[in-house]
Amino acid sequence: GECELEMDTIAAVATPMGEGGIAVIRVSGPESLEIVDRIYKGKQPLMTVDSHTIHYGFLIDPKTDERVEEVLVSVMRAPRTFTREDVVEVNCHGGIISVQRVLDLILENGARLAEPGEFTKRAFLNGRIDLSQAEAVIDLIRAKTDRAMKAALSQVEGKLSRMIRDLRQNLLEAMAHIEVTLDYPEHDVESVTNQLLLGKCQEVNQQIARMLDTAKQGKILREGLATAIVGRPNVGKSSLLNSLVQEEKAIVTDVAGTTRDVIEEFVNVRGVPLRLIDTAGIRETEDIVEQIGVERSRQTLQQADLILLVLNYNEPLQPDDRSIFAAVSGMNVIIIINKFDLPQRIDLEEVKRHFPNQPVIMTSVKEEKGIELLERAIADIFFTGRVQQEDLTYVSNARHVNLLRQSQQAIADAIEGIEQRMPVDMIQIDIKKAWELLGEVIGESVGEDLIDQIFSQFCLGK
Ligand code: GDP
Ligand code: ZN
Repeated sequence: GECELEMDTIAAVATPMGEGGIAVIRVSGPESLEIVDRIYKGKQPLMTVDSHTIHYGFLIDPKTDERVEEVLVSVMRAPRTFTREDVVEVNCHGGIISVQRVLDLILENGARLAEPGEFTKRAFLNGRIDLSQAEAVIDLIRAKTDRAMKAALSQVEGKLSRMIRDLRQNLLEAMAHIEVTLDYPEHDVESVTNQLLLGKCQEVNQQIARMLDTAKQGKILREGLATAIVGRPNVGKSSLLNSLVQEEKAIVTDVAGTTRDVIEEFVNVRGVPLRLIDTAGIRETEDIVEQIGVERSRQTLQQADLILLVLNYNEPLQPDDRSIFAAVSGMNVIIIINKFDLPQRIDLEEVKRHFPNQPVIMTSVKEEKGIELLERAIADIFFTGRVQQEDLTYVSNARHVNLLRQSQQAIADAIEGIEQRMPVDMIQIDIKKAWELLGEVIGESVGEDLIDQIFSQFCLGK
């Protein structure tokens, strides 16, 4: 029973497990007040308190009458809640044992453990949020930098939804004009309609193109810029990595409760998450090139969006440097010439000849010089193109990108039809198709399977 309309009452821990401070256990559904009242002792029963109020008290195990926990309980009645159901949130001390005990008590007294994403799914099914917003909640949970988080938040707040709705409104108006043409063929409105349609379709087309432009950035924000630090042994790769990782910038993600079990290392450079490839190789056994040979490291390099190539200012270029040059040619490379504090022995002209269009940054990791410049060069790579730093509505979700591409194609077909003076009812078909595809972004006209698939990606309790 995936989508039962008769909702039962669900509960789960809503804060990350195992982190200190306060934990929140969220209960949602028609019986949530009743269930928590069975185990709560405070000034007055929760059934009698006002909505959106917080109450101090204790949880009691009704079987033993034993005091289990000191708690603060928030009561929020439907419909002004995240799920649009009655919601009770129990705030307790964050230790794993006490959190588990409180959750068990709530489950023993009538609630069911929420499936991953079930709270958000209810918010969606109850019309509180649309599908793109629900998906943004997933992104929010996985966000690796503040910027990624803000981008996801702006989607949760419905910025993308509003853009999609505006586009659909435009298309709807276009379709209305077509209806008029079809209803009154005797009037000579067709040429007027054609002009109007062309204008609207071109406008929608440009908007979609602009949104698709943000997709690359959005993907990077979600997944990190796959980055490889390469160079001969001893040029300073580990030192550089450590200096980037410093200043509490490294985030090791091990997303709790998801199926992903690899631990990846992320470095946050001015809001751009770098996903470091083969970091273990750099950290423990020195560089990839040395360890696995140029051929295999070439394959590793293929996966990289960005190469940080480290050279030694204090040594002449060597055959190994040149074979790395060949391996990374044509890729997105930032050249880092390290050990700038020592006398020059490198031939800079030769480096620049190999990489005429790539940034060359001089650093001394030892003296902490040039790191700022490097960070700026990395951020520049991310922020090229039309996307402004403040424009946080990145389209990042692969499903959305795909739907936008398809609707762009449908609009292009419509434009071609208009230009070739096709009958308007043919053009209508393309416009309607684009309108429907855009609707799928926000979850209008999507099947139950897709909904289940999307919501199964969630962590528990969200
Ligand atoms: P890797 O083999 O490329 O990872 O190089 P490491 O980071 O292990 O550094 C090799 C040696 O170079 C270490 O002794 C570092 O302290 C030293 N080193 C790293 N960066 C600099 C620098 O900017 N200037 C100087 N003088 N030494 C550096
Ligand atoms: Zn090293």
